[in-house]
Amino acid sequence: MATRLWPIAFPNGYNETMDRNIITALNLAPFEKGWVWLVGAGPGDPGLITALGLMAIAQADFILYDALVDERLLGLARKGAGLIFAGKRAGVTSCRQSDISSLLIDLARKGSRVLRLKGGDPFVFGRGGEEAGVLAKARVPFRIVPGITAGIGGLAYAGIPVTHRDTNHAVTFITGHGADGKLPKLNWQAIGKGSETLVFYMARKFAGEIAAALISAGRKPDEPAAVIANAARQDQSVTVTTLGGLGEAAAALPALSILVVGENVRLREQLDWLGKMAGALNPA
Ligand code: SAH
Repeated sequence: MATRLWPIAFPNGYNETMDRNIITALNLAPFEKGWVWLVGAGPGDPGLITALGLMAIAQADFILYDALVDERLLGLARKGAGLIFAGKRAGVTSCRQSDISSLLIDLARKGSRVLRLKGGDPFVFGRGGEEAGVLAKARVPFRIVPGITAGIGGLAYAGIPVTHRDTNHAVTFITGHGADGKLPKLNWQAIGKGSETLVFYMARKFAGEIAAALISAGRKPDEPAAVIANAARQDQSVTVTTLGGLGEAAAALPALSILVVGENVRLREQLDWLGKMAGALNPA
């Protein structure tokens, strides 16, 4: 794990007035020494972080961040904070989970405020539960600060409501990537019948197989589907297709993508606010 010095956004000292006002107005919990906070940074756009998350970045002594965290958020760290890359990416040499957990414990036991910053929500396909479990076992005090998960925030940035009374009353979040790197052994019959909308994480590689399994489970090949790549980022791209075309559409887009299957995808036609208001993501 490499410690990296990040260009701090406020080299002459961070002006904390705004933070202090927010902390007081919202009565935010204090980030105590010796604690670990597991914080979700949201899916891309750094503006999607919570007030607690922002405060934690400004106050942390150490920030262990993963590959999906926007660098501009790290620029808000205080002068002298230790910024440690603890990322994992499929196909790239990555930090061992046990190393990350032991570092969290060591730093907290030395009396630091330790921030574990993850993309999206730490408890949604993010191993936050495993890290928190190790902390609990070691009796290191910790707090979970949820973030906006890609399967909700990514859809919002694509103009696809996760639920809508006209299209779906249920939604299922599914990972396409098992611990062994293969498609998890799921009950596709049950998944296909279980809810009208299905949202897949880490599923690009197996998009074709997933679509075939759903079609065998009775879903229609012409059902609407979408691939949302680099959601809520400057280079977001969305392809609307059908379940039958999902494999091909996913292969054509970058790896960081969410797959959606269901009638709610059609609503994008009307609700693609980002596409209709060019530049809305990060105005110049
Ligand atoms: N904890 C994260 C998920 C981590 S798993 C969360 O709650 O969002 C990593 C997977 O999340 C990626 O393979 C991809 O499927 C999805 N993902 C995360 N950020 C994304 C983004 N900005 N755009 C598209 N997919 C994203």
